[in-house]
Amino acid sequence: MTTSEQGCVFDIKRFAVHDGSGIRTTVFLKGCGMACKWCQNPEGMRSDRQPVWMEHHCIHCGECWKNAREGQMEWNNHSPVIHRDWKGSFDNLIQACPTGALRMDSRTYTVEELMTELKKDQVFYRYGGGVTFSGGEPFLQKEFLLSCLKECHQAGISTAVETALHVDGDAVKEALPYLDEIFADCKHMDSSIHKAFTGVNNELILENLRWLLKHAKIPVTIRTPLIPGYNATPEVIASIAGFLAECSPTVHYELLNYNELAPAKYPMVERDYEPGIRHRFNEAEMESFKEIALAQGLNNVTI
Ligand code: SF4
Repeated sequence: MTTSEQGCVFDIKRFAVHDGSGIRTTVFLKGCGMACKWCQNPEGMRSDRQPVWMEHHCIHCGECWKNAREGQMEWNNHSPVIHRDWKGSFDNLIQACPTGALRMDSRTYTVEELMTELKKDQVFYRYGGGVTFSGGEPFLQKEFLLSCLKECHQAGISTAVETALHVDGDAVKEALPYLDEIFADCKHMDSSIHKAFTGVNNELILENLRWLLKHAKIPVTIRTPLIPGYNATPEVIASIAGFLAECSPTVHYELLNYNELAPAKYPMVERDYEPGIRHRFNEAEMESFKEIALAQGLNNVTI
């Protein structure tokens, strides 16, 4: 592993306060092996770099269309429709666009380049903050992730990872010595329902969760995003909490309210957002989910 190793990053969010202790810089690594129907970061699902069109930045000037190569895009209703699977560079379109409405969804960084970016926020790291690697699924770029974690630790920067754990367990084990916190999802205990909504079975995830809860010596938070019509029922939350309580009753379990903003990102990547019901839960409903989790024997549940 070297600091010249490259990774694909689709966003770097500064001053994040929900991705670990203190004020964090969150790095979103591109690519995910799952396809959750409610994914909050659809631009992070594909592992390859893709062109995106930001409708609200577009002035419909047609410069992209004038500079397009054959098969690269269509011009429809005074707007570009990009052929994402077109083989070749989209630089000509991006350079032609005067407003930045057309851009690539990510960029590659060497470890060294990323560390230079991360060190710009070092002042926050001194007061309990740090760097969180999220995604996509960060462990899918495991060599790059591991190199970054090692570099952060060497620089005295606290680290965290947000993962769905549908990954090779050895990658998690290898990263643990360089991690100070880990956040992992647990979305459903029924494997066939899990597959219908996320594209994958849950056996590997549960196996990794069991291992993590038994062996990790760092703070672990397990999260369930509450999705109406999928897992936001008393029965499902009770079954997840029961499983976690059996593994480790003291683990921090966090119930995440439904994110209503996620559907807004889907047009950018020309995908349809699928869940039929879209509403956040009120305080009383969230409290009642928390009570259900506590009743299963967990003693550190937050909403
Ligand atoms: S060049 Fe940019 S602003 Fe003009 S139509 Fe194309 S995407 Fe829109």
